[in-house]
This record gives sequence, structure tokens and C-alpha cells, in this order.
Amino acid sequence: RQAAFRTDLSVLLDQVGTGKESLSFMKRRIRRLAQQWATAANRLDTKLEQRWRDQKKILVHVGFLTEESGDVFSPKVLKGGPLGEMVQWADILTALHVLGHNLKISMSLKELQGFLGVPPGRGSCPLTGPLPFDLIYTDYHGLQQMKQHMGLSLKKHKCHIRVIDTFGTEPAYNHEEYATLHGYRTNWGYWNLDSRQYMTMFPHTPDNSFMGFVSEELNDTEKRNIQQNKVNNMAVVYGKEPSMWKLQGKEGFLQILHRYMEVHGTVYYETQRPPEVPAFVKNHGLLPQHELQQLLRKAKLFIGFGFPYEGPAPLEAIANGCIFLQPKFNPPHSSLNHEFFRGKPTSRQVSSQHPYAEQYIGKPHVITVDFNNSEEFDSAIREIMRAKVEPYLPYEYTCEGMLERVHAYIQNQDFCAPERLFVLANLTRQGTAGGSRTPGPLFVPLSNSTALGWALNVTAPAVWPPLSSLRLLVSQEGQSCVEACQTSDFICEPAHFRYINNKEALHALEVQCEVVDSEINHILPAFSVMRRECGLQREPLLFSCAGHSPKYRRLCPCRDFRQGQVALCRDCL
Ligand code: UDP
Repeated sequence: RQAAFRTDLSVLLDQVGTGKESLSFMKRRIRRLAQQWATAANRLDTKLEQRWRDQKKILVHVGFLTEESGDVFSPKVLKGGPLGEMVQWADILTALHVLGHNLKISMSLKELQGFLGVPPGRGSCPLTGPLPFDLIYTDYHGLQQMKQHMGLSLKKHKCHIRVIDTFGTEPAYNHEEYATLHGYRTNWGYWNLDSRQYMTMFPHTPDNSFMGFVSEELNDTEKRNIQQNKVNNMAVVYGKEPSMWKLQGKEGFLQILHRYMEVHGTVYYETQRPPEVPAFVKNHGLLPQHELQQLLRKAKLFIGFGFPYEGPAPLEAIANGCIFLQPKFNPPHSSLNHEFFRGKPTSRQVSSQHPYAEQYIGKPHVITVDFNNSEEFDSAIREIMRAKVEPYLPYEYTCEGMLERVHAYIQNQDFCAPERLFVLANLTRQGTAGGSRTPGPLFVPLSNSTALGWALNVTAPAVWPPLSSLRLLVSQEGQSCVEACQTSDFICEPAHFRYINNKEALHALEVQCEVVDSEINHILPAFSVMRRECGLQREPLLFSCAGHSPKYRRLCPCRDFRQGQVALCRDCL
């Protein structure tokens, strides 16, 4: 069946159910954004020009909200708990509904079993018939529950699953045997999925798919009004829990901030001001989302103290015309050196409180400084008070952007199809050192270029992302493909690894190999210049954009991307 866009959200609101603070929060959000979703649906409908879209049968099982996983979140919703997750699930449900799919929502084990047709009872009862869904969106808690209750049949059906995973899961942690043998085993990873089945909140490593969420978009009149009513010396602090204010050395920069600006907070409290929040801060208590938006419309500065990491609030602040000031992390935080990330299935280096804001938005909307350097901090504050900035929201965080991306994933990503063999016809030189795509000299020594652009002419059935988007690059030693592609204004595309994991690619790059081995290692395909050793990947699940090693230069499958929609290549729609 063909899917038709929906602009009426009442059926969805009924499906979400009642009785918990988390559900009320999500429903308030869905209602508040209904008009924006409707406008976005109409725009995307026009853009897609009547293209056929399959209507999918989709189950959404929100594991972390089930009683069986302890549902630790619902009671925290009114106390400033992790609302980011709730924001994202509300938006995922809305996007799937608006795109016109056949949606079932489960927030308990009983509902899950009912929808899957698994008889309730003790132990694991395998699902005997076919899976009654094309797609299942869940989280790590839900995945665990499905394992317990679907038994072995989970393995058979796992290609249909998508895991909403805020911070992401890198391939080395996802491959059970490899993770166990090489020290990448965590409490979360090791599901042996295709890494693109994990869907993140921000575009972290492109090994995972980028799901995201939305933020409110303003029309031109609202933008003008906001700019006229900005209070240049008003700051709002990012941090709704008192613990987020417990920061060593914060007195220093808070004093500087207070010298120039009126400081506001939205910290949860019961009866008294939390002791962590200084007396000069005007604390509003935890606000409903729409009231927070009003506060952000007046404020000039939204300032983070280092925690929480990578949440929605800075995007909302920037969308409402604030400048986001945040601390740089030097050295970067990661699962190797920081409690919060310890045990998370990623080794990503987090360079500031909000790397997406730092790297994808940047100045003038985002300023990232060393908060221990009081001169730098002081001058940043003064610069912010003088600056004039417009409200800004990256396209990928608008309702239309999210619908476009989720639509493209649903219609094109297929992890159930068997690995097909592709014939590599030939490699045509398309670029020169530095990544420009004008024809250049035929031979550029590898040592002085990280960015050799190659296009592959491959005889293959239609694939997604299309091969027209592929550019083969070589990383520096120690550099990951995430970075190598980024430095040439491309993005690493894990789906393209299989086309460059071969001798032809090495040959085209004129790599000197004395031996070409095929091994199981997440940095392959790669080569060592010193030892003249080349390695190809033997385990497709370990193709990894994130991997790097000081001794190896990696072969990197990069691709182009649409302005403001990094998840999609230019010909991906
Ligand atoms: N939020 C809110 N009231 C407040 C502070 C925050 O409703 O007083 C909302 C905010 O609009 C955002 C969500 O909480 O959408 C999550 O915020 P944050 O970025 O702090 O992320 P988290 O750490 O909760 O994931």
C-alpha cells in the first residue's frame, strides 16, 4: 500500500495513552508542534512529487518507559530528569505517524507480547510465524526484553529492528566476538547488528544512522520580534538539575558572568533554592517547554557548564536567537577518561559540551572557549553582548528535515537483503589532492595528500546511497575515516565500504603492497606505509568509519551530503 501524509494527530494522541507524567509530557509536545508538522508534511509532499512510498507496518516499543525495565524516568519528568529522550521519542512517533505508516505503540511488556503474537508466560517463547511488522523501533532496554521474550526468533528477525541509541554504538563494540576478544565489551553493545541499525540523537559517527529530533521553527515575523526584544544582558544557564551546577571552579566564571549580565536558571526545586545555585541567580524552577521558549526568546546568552552533554536545549536556544556559550574540553571527554561515558559502546572524543553545536553550527551562534581562562571567558561575554545574531535552526532539526530523513531511511535502508556481490569494473580518477573534484594529474604521491578523490565505476544494481556519491580517500596515520572525510568536506559512508574493500582500490591508489592480507580488524581496509603491508576486511560487520590506528592509513569511503541534511547524499532523495 501507498503511504499518505497525515496532518491530523488525534489518532496518534489517543495511541500514546495516559496515566504517566512521561506520556503527558510527550502529548503536550506533540500537540504544541502539530501545526509545524502539518506544514512540513505539506512541503515534503510537494517536494517528493507524488513519488510512491510504501506504507510500512511499524511497531514502536519504548523500552525505557516500561515498568519491567524499572521506568526510572517517568517519576523524574517533573523534576528535570532526562527530558531529551522524551523529546526524541515524541518526535519519532510523530514523524512515523505523519509519514502515513501503520503504527503500533507499545510501552509495556504485555503490549509487546500482544503485538508480536508471543504467548505470555515464563521464559522465552519463540515467535513461530512471520514477524507481523516491517520495522520495529526500540531502545537497548526494549532489545533486551525482545531477546528474553522472542527467544531464538529474534536472530531471524533482527534485520527489521532499529535501536534508538542517544550516544551511538561503534562497530568494534557491536560485534560480540570481536568486542570480547579485544576489550570493547560493554554493558550495551555486542548485538551483532549492522551498525546503521543504531540511530542516534545527533550525527555522531556516521557508522550509525542519524535519527535526531526537532526544534521549533520561527516565521519571519517572529524572528523580527525576537530580535527587537532581545535583552542584551540576560543569560539563561543550561542545567535543570542542581547537580549540573556542582562544578569545580564555577565560582570564577559565574562571577564574571554576573558582573556583566543578569543570570537566570530553570533548576528544579521543591521548596527551597538548591544550595548549588548562587543567590544572585534568578531561578524560575523547571519550566514547561513553551515557557522555557519564552524565556529563551528574551535572553541573549544560553550558557552551559559542561553537563548535560549533547541535549536538545542548546538547539532550542539558538533557534530562539540566543548565542550558546559552552566549555571546550581539553583533553576531550570519552569512555576512556570520563565517568559519564564509561561503559558506553563508543570511543568518540567529545571535544566540548555540545560537539554538534561546535562543529555543525559554530560562530556566531555558538562560542566554545576554555572556561578556566578568565580573560578568554570575559571577552567572550562582552562579544556576545555586542553581537547581533538571527535565530537559526539547521534544516535537519526542522520538522521537514526530520520527515525527509526518516522517509529516506524507511524507503531505502534494507538490512534484510543478503550481501550481494558487486563487480568492480574500473576506477576513474576524478580528483586531485585536497579533495577538489576538477581533473588533476594522474599520479599524486600518497605521502602529500590525504584527499585523493576517486569515483568508482561499479556495475551494480541500484544501491542506496547511490554510488554516484562515493569518493575514495586515504586517511593519515592515526586518523579515522570520520575525520579524513570531514577534512575534505565529505562524510564517511559505511554502506560504501564494500566497494572499496578490494585490491583494485589499493591498486588505483598506487599503494605499494608487499602482501595483501584479509583479516578481522575494525581498522581495515588499511595499509602500513612503513611495512608495505595492506589489509582488507573479512567481516562486513566491522566496517568502521570511527576506527583508527597510529600505524595505519585507512581506505575511506566518503560521500557528498545535502546542505543542512548530513544524513543524505545529494542524489539520496
Ligand atoms: N526543558 C524544559 N524545561 C526546563 C528545561 C528544559 O521543558 O526548564 C526541556 C527542553 O525544552 C528540552 C528538554 O528539556 O527540550 C531536554 O533538555 P536538555 O537539553 O537539558 O537535555 P537532557 O539532558 O534532558 O537530555
